[in-house]
Amino acid sequence: MSKKYDVIVIGAGPAGYVAAIRCAQLGMNTACIDRWVDSEGKGRLGGTCLNVGCIPSKALLESSEQYEHAGHALEQHGVRLKGRQLDLKAMMARKDRVVANLTQGIQGLFRANSVDWLKGEGQLSGQGRVRFTPHEGEAEELEAGHVILAPGSVPVELPSAPYDGTYVVDSSGALEFDKVPGRLGVIGAGVIGLELGSVWRRLGSEVVLLEAQETFLTFCDEQIAGEAQKIFTRQGLDIRLGARVKGSSVDRKKRKVVVEYEDGEGTHEERFDRLIVAVGRRPATDGLVAPEVELTLDERGMLHVDDYCETTLPGVYAVGDAVRGPMLAHKGSEEGIMVAERIAGQATEMHYDTIPNVIYTLPEVAWVGRTEQALRAAATPYNRGVFPFAASGRARAMEDTTGMVKILTHQETDRILGVHVIGPQASELIAQGVIAMEFEASGEDLARTVFAHPTLSEAVHEAALATLGRPIHM
Ligand code: FAD
Repeated sequence: MSKKYDVIVIGAGPAGYVAAIRCAQLGMNTACIDRWVDSEGKGRLGGTCLNVGCIPSKALLESSEQYEHAGHALEQHGVRLKGRQLDLKAMMARKDRVVANLTQGIQGLFRANSVDWLKGEGQLSGQGRVRFTPHEGEAEELEAGHVILAPGSVPVELPSAPYDGTYVVDSSGALEFDKVPGRLGVIGAGVIGLELGSVWRRLGSEVVLLEAQETFLTFCDEQIAGEAQKIFTRQGLDIRLGARVKGSSVDRKKRKVVVEYEDGEGTHEERFDRLIVAVGRRPATDGLVAPEVELTLDERGMLHVDDYCETTLPGVYAVGDAVRGPMLAHKGSEEGIMVAERIAGQATEMHYDTIPNVIYTLPEVAWVGRTEQALRAAATPYNRGVFPFAASGRARAMEDTTGMVKILTHQETDRILGVHVIGPQASELIAQGVIAMEFEASGEDLARTVFAHPTLSEAVHEAALATLGRPIHM
């Protein structure tokens, strides 16, 4: 007789493992299947985010920032260091330790919540049925009251620049270089390309980003994107817009990658020591659903879901990168919680309008809600309040005055429609905008809130005051 669970989750990334823990907390007998293995062949929880995404990239961003600061930024504070040296092996080992600790932490959470971790491949084989093929042993059919699909995503491959695992790599390969490339090409100047390009530039690479779009960070507020482009260019990132890659070849003898691209001025050739391809991700749904199961996927393999993440098959849900919406860890986790609670009979909803986005460069870029160009395009009447960090006492004390906070409010209702930050600790500051929008705050609400002095948060306060035309420190 096949084994039966209340819930089976396929995928233990931030969408799946959070869903599994919440189901278990709500009293459901839960299993979570994942096929991830580490370099020694051992099962790993945490998916892309913990193993090759959010966490290792932030570990390296942090280390490379420390390295860069040790170079000159500290001198402005009167701190002089002699003989800065890079120990890349130690830096990578620290990153691996951080990842290992966190993935083991999820194992502990599974144990504490009695979630069964099944190591191997999962496939939806019918309504309430999952075929589980363990890494070792025979496949078995499992039954479940409900199934949650959380297979995540994988990097998109460019036919003009196929991965070879050494010279041409995806984002995972770019987290593992064993020496700093002299000249590094990055195809794609999106979030991942910018973060990884920044890591290696800080460590000494000459970085060229080839971006097919004509405008920089099209999904950001245009004022913030313009500011970011200026700052990143000043830092030494060579950002080439409207650059469409036509082909590439690896010259193994010379240990170079040759990339050919086209822009408005013609065809160009560039030589790099390494090439990172970071042109987006696609749902990892190949083989996830048995052919005989009628479940709707779009042409890219995205699982079709309703507002509550239920698929076209009753009792089967899908969350995370493999369903519509931004490919972000926190979006997937919240979907996981919503689904678990809805299975348990609760009426949980999630607000997609208030999902924060962050680019962890230096300065960081963060935003929530609508951009100014989107409001203009929709003919929504709005007020804009901008406060530069150059006018913030705390930012001056930190010697970190790049960027600004920008708040957009509805001209008639004063409701906050968007908050955009470029500057120090933008990733933390944006939570204030998220909370304000979640509670449907007005510009006046933020303007009348007392903020501690001196803090970077005062820039949020001042930007809110500016939407009302009455900033104090500007
Ligand atoms: P995943 O994390 O991809 O996990 C899916 C899991 O499902 C995997 O473990 C996989 O092994 C398993 N799986 C898939 N199919 C099967 C199957 N058939 N059987 C068994 N197991 C299966 N997001 C942020 O919010 N913040 C960041 O700072 C950030 N930085 C990033 C940096 C990089 C370099 C990258 C690549 C991504 C980053 N992301 C970031 C995106 C983030 O990693 C993803 O949005 C997130 O991991 C998606 O979670 P998920 O649970 O949907 O899928």
